[in-house]
Amino acid sequence: MIRVKVFSPSTDQVRIVKEVLRIYFPRLKEIDTTNFLISSNYFSGTVKADKKINLYLEKQTSPLVIKVKLEMDDQVFFHEEVAKPPFFSEEETNRARRLLRLALQQIFSLAKIIKPSPWGILTGVRPLKIVQRFMDDGITPENILNHLIKDYALEERKAKLLLEIAYRQRPFLPKEKRNLVSLYLGIPFCPTRCYYCSFPAFSLDRWGYLLADYLQALEKEIIGLSQVLQEKEIKVQTVYLGGGTPTILSAGQLAKLLTVVQDNFAFVPDRELTVEGGRPETLTREKLEVLKAHQVTRLSINPQTMQAVTLERIGRKHSCEDIITAYHLAREFGFPVINMDLIIGLPGEKRVDLDKTLNEILALRPENITVHALALKRAAYYRQEKIDLVLPAEGQAMLDLAHTKLAKAGYLPYYLYRQKEIFAHGENVGYSLPGKICFYNLLMMEERQTILGCGVGASSKFVDLETNFLESIYNPKDILFYLQRVDELLQRKVDNLQTVL
Ligand code: SF4
Repeated sequence: MIRVKVFSPSTDQVRIVKEVLRIYFPRLKEIDTTNFLISSNYFSGTVKADKKINLYLEKQTSPLVIKVKLEMDDQVFFHEEVAKPPFFSEEETNRARRLLRLALQQIFSLAKIIKPSPWGILTGVRPLKIVQRFMDDGITPENILNHLIKDYALEERKAKLLLEIAYRQRPFLPKEKRNLVSLYLGIPFCPTRCYYCSFPAFSLDRWGYLLADYLQALEKEIIGLSQVLQEKEIKVQTVYLGGGTPTILSAGQLAKLLTVVQDNFAFVPDRELTVEGGRPETLTREKLEVLKAHQVTRLSINPQTMQAVTLERIGRKHSCEDIITAYHLAREFGFPVINMDLIIGLPGEKRVDLDKTLNEILALRPENITVHALALKRAAYYRQEKIDLVLPAEGQAMLDLAHTKLAKAGYLPYYLYRQKEIFAHGENVGYSLPGKICFYNLLMMEERQTILGCGVGASSKFVDLETNFLESIYNPKDILFYLQRVDELLQRKVDNLQTVL
């Protein structure tokens, strides 16, 4: 256990110390406002013994300098960060905070308390937004790379990955207000709950008695929102039916839901419609016929791994053969894009397991492959630390392996996001064969279009590019709470739409 005591006149600085420590020690405990306890764990690197750390912070202005002193046992470490040109547009307070993050990362690393994350001091879910902002400001690619590496401490390969994706996304990002929105519809039911799951997902066995009420509430939200869009003559560009596992619905329920969507909105001519059929055992010929009849353009079949032993370990009830069968069946229907999700960091898996999974998925050649690093935040298995964890060094090698193999097979990364407590300080990356990107993913991640979310756990983003307005409304993750509050949630969204559109 390590006790960290912070000496600083500024509560904002103490808050930043906590934030930086949480990158490496997500389960940091607060003893009081300036005293924290951290333990050596999966994220933390090398410190094993009990230690006491005193951390002294000082800020000087004109020129801006952040000084940090760290005392640990009989050792003392110093580091200072000086604001140096070339600068990018950044408020003075934000610059001081960024320099403090850099200084802290550096001093913790000097004291061997951490091994720096390849993502440097970035903690956000959407690192691409920084790059898009640099691009909006007309900064050259070379200078963007420099800023990412020097001013945010990213490893070069991560900085290059961001830049590559940002340039790929650029032509597709709306730059001005357009009369278009996207829809997200959530079906939070699954055959069983995977042990690693951090989504709202209710097993049908236990919660199925609420399904009919749920579909009714969802329809109410859809119709309520569609009325505002019709009044304002707004069209829908993309629809994403996610979950949970939407294909857990019967063919009749799927047909009804898709008909409600089809009948109540005006769409752009090339509208995108994604359906997540995450669990292969839920994909029947009859359901695929329904999806085809409603012109689904993208179907997601999510193996996560092609190791039978892991599937069992994570609580999935299907086999690797089921995945391949479902894929070939879906192919018969000629969906323009099939996506397959993989997860790196599943319990017990090493580089060699990932290699096998990648080989088998690449042999199928789906148009999209999405590679996630496991989010550990609510994964009970990891919390209890009862499983065989892969070391971070191997973890980064696994992420690199996926990237290299996919690039070699012609897949291009086109969106990226990160999560808190993510495996091996990794990232989630969507890859696509040329010309096959999923616009919904891109628009949702970069927050440049209004997205209306309906259903349990769905988030709605109201975006006005003219005024830089961005507001989010989150539906509850609890299904009973959602059913009670659906009218109120709908009204809030309708009110927000009236303002933004
Ligand atoms: S299929 Fe997806 S949403 Fe359902 S339990 Fe598994 S991880 Fe969660």
